[in-house]
Amino acid sequence: MQTLLFCDFDGTISRRDIGYSLFHHFSGGHNDALLPDWKAGRISSREVLTREAAMVSATQSEIMSFLGQFEIDPGFSAFVVQSRKNRIEPVILSDGLDFYIKYILERNQLGGLQVVSNVGHFIANGLEIEFPRVNRACRRCGNCKGEIIEEFCAQASGTVRTVFIGDGYSDICAARVADRLFAKKDLAVYCREQNIAYTTFDTFHDVASRLTREGYFSE
Ligand SMILES: [Mg+2]
Ligand SMILES: [Zn+2]
Repeated sequence: MQTLLFCDFDGTISRRDIGYSLFHHFSGGHNDALLPDWKAGRISSREVLTREAAMVSATQSEIMSFLGQFEIDPGFSAFVVQSRKNRIEPVILSDGLDFYIKYILERNQLGGLQVVSNVGHFIANGLEIEFPRVNRACRRCGNCKGEIIEEFCAQASGTVRTVFIGDGYSDICAARVADRLFAKKDLAVYCREQNIAYTTFDTFHDVASRLTREGYFSE
């Protein structure tokens, strides 16, 4: 059976939520007012991201140099190596922005990973967000991870099982469709409330040893 493996980026691969940190920093904290409505599902990710981007006042070089402080999970690089040894190519699904994900991955020699995300464009003294993907049904997400996982499954030949690893509210739709779920922080709280089965983890070392024990990884 083929395994399809999907990972969230912000707060899962990156130790901190870079999208949140970036908008918080460059909006002078004004973005925080939007978050309660978003977490409660009253406004969509698209609306939040569009409004957050409108609050940003910074040049491209200011934004890019802000990214220098962020680290990735200490087990993630080894996790990618091990996945590939087992002929599984991890795919990153993000409701964040392409430019900082690519920057952080490349800085960690992980630039070859496939990323499905929203797109950020630098404009004079700010940012503009583009949503290249059209969600079929979801009105909550910018880039619905649950729908993307279903599309990958539909394109695969033969039987597949899906694994998803995430940490937050942008992972809710993925958590509902994944066969095997690893969750921490807000996503773990949500899954407990909704009776969605998951395994919690601290780092990707934990995920790797669990997947090995369960036979997803044989090497
Ligand atoms: Mg996250
Ligand atoms: Zn969704």
